Amino acid sequence: MKRNLTCIICPRGCTLTVETEGDKVSVSGNSCPKGAVYGIEETTRPTRTVTSVVRVSNREDTMVSVKTAEPVPKENIFDVMALIKKASVKAPIHIGDKILVDVCGTDIVATKDVL
Ligand code: SF4
Repeated sequence: MKRNLTCIICPRGCTLTVETEGDKVSVSGNSCPKGAVYGIEETTRPTRTVTSVVRVSNREDTMVSVKTAEPVPKENIFDVMALIKKASVKAPIHIGDKILVDVCGTDIVATKDVL
């Protein structure tokens, strides 16, 4: 099977052609090795960094931006979002603080300060 992808690792945005034949995956069109790794991972085990916001319970109308510390498998994105939606946190919050722990194999961390 042949599939075309745009590499999102850097702004150059190379068009990758990923061919799969059984367990064998080959990538062409990449201008550097990172593109080959991206093409293989996107085809065999696609992951995404999830970004969202969490309610700050002790501040009126305040949310803190958060993200997954590591990319999660695409099939887990809705599970991650459901847990983030239910969460709340109390200020003060600092960038990098863990808001939720062990969510689909990673943590949810703050990406801004709320003091
Ligand atoms: S293949 Fe390399 S140069 Fe091309 S977009 Fe991906 S990271 Fe950038």
